[in-house]
Amino acid sequence: MPRSVPLVPALTACALALALTACTGSGAQGTSGAPGASGVGDPYFPNAGNGGYDVTHYALTLAYTPDTHRLTGTAEITARATHDLSAFDLDLKGMQVKSLTVAGRKARWTRKGQELTVRPPATLPEGETFRTTVRYSGTPETITDPDGSEEGWLRTADGALALGEPTGSMAWFPSDNHPSDKATYDITITVPKGLQAVSNGELRTETTTETTTGDGSGATTTYSWRTTHPMATYLATVAIGHYDITRTTTKNGLPVYTAVDPHEAAASRKVLARLPEIMEWEEYNFGSYPFSSTGAIVDRRGDAGYALETQTRPFFPGAPDTATLVHELAHQWYGDSVTPKTWRDMWLNEGFATYAEWLWDEDHDGDTAQETFDALYKGDYYDNKADSEAIWAFPPAKPTSAAHISDSPVYERGAMVLHKIRRTVGDARFYDIIQGWAAAHRYGNADTADFTAYVEKMAPGKDFGGIWKDWLYGDGKPARP
Ligand SMILES: [Zn+2]
Repeated sequence: MPRSVPLVPALTACALALALTACTGSGAQGTSGAPGASGVGDPYFPNAGNGGYDVTHYALTLAYTPDTHRLTGTAEITARATHDLSAFDLDLKGMQVKSLTVAGRKARWTRKGQELTVRPPATLPEGETFRTTVRYSGTPETITDPDGSEEGWLRTADGALALGEPTGSMAWFPSDNHPSDKATYDITITVPKGLQAVSNGELRTETTTETTTGDGSGATTTYSWRTTHPMATYLATVAIGHYDITRTTTKNGLPVYTAVDPHEAAASRKVLARLPEIMEWEEYNFGSYPFSSTGAIVDRRGDAGYALETQTRPFFPGAPDTATLVHELAHQWYGDSVTPKTWRDMWLNEGFATYAEWLWDEDHDGDTAQETFDALYKGDYYDNKADSEAIWAFPPAKPTSAAHISDSPVYERGAMVLHKIRRTVGDARFYDIIQGWAAAHRYGNADTADFTAYVEKMAPGKDFGGIWKDWLYGDGKPARP
């Protein structure tokens, strides 16, 4: 996500989130095992995710009709029990559950808020891999975040769009909705013929089914997408509408698939033509690309409030500028491949993606990263005092609440931390660190403590104590730049 535009603080939503911190499991039904917890204990989103199992694969079969806003879905979730499991939760907000099976047998379920509690007919032993199949339908919801931004299922000018950071994916499929549980995906979407459906990964098949009614009104097209590398739920996307599709490859042979709303085609052409060049620059600087395709989805400006680094295919509301494209593509390494353990570690996404913008500028006749750092420190980076002061509101590693995880301290001050490390270790070691970090945690999860330990290991004899204390964890503006 690019940095957020300051919004009215949504204190009510935040207070509500804090009031729901109790993460008790649902009542056990069997005589053995225990229910999985209804949250994984995220410090900002306590109900996000669930305990007792790890998902390895989601197979989502969806059908959507923009005219009626109706979504019909089947989610087949393959997971492994992490303890003897008498019951477990999935996260699903809205929608009606029609049927539910575990390992092919009917299971009972109850719903409360975003928790869909499943009671399998028999206890699932620790270590067992089991498949849960949920059939559901309804009008999917748009979710308003604690910071006031909208995500989940969004209706667009000519279709719909699913964006999930931080919790919106529960609006369109049941899941273990937390970045700590990554999985592979098959996402199949059926839409009225004439519309496209774009998602993550690679398009495997596209099949149109004509009807016999003669007027073609019931004809549909089914798009099957596959993501073969682990993906966090918040990075899953579906974009339905009219798109100009362009397929090309980078010099390294990486497939590039872009889908652009025709209204944004002219404004997007020049910047998207640079996508292969940006990918090559990022591979040079960040190390080999972790995924098997790339691209972009561009919808109309009003279709969403922010861009998002949806895996392999970042989303943009309106034609992006080069900086935003650099930012969202950099997230493929920092955020999508190396994913935060909790939402408190968001700066590991946004500090890196913001610093990627600075490095791009520096390498392309713009300001040096040092100049950008200095302008932020002096307070003349932004036009107004409020924005200049806002970057010191809290330390990047400790956002004050869920409403602030997308504020400028996480972005700009996070990037300043990386610049301080670069100045301490020099360029050669710095690039070793950022490439090594992406390689060491590729496809995994990491937190701030993992990062500081990694930096210290990579630069023995250097003292980072002041950077961690003043820039990463310290309140207020550090006394010296
Ligand atoms: Zn971002």
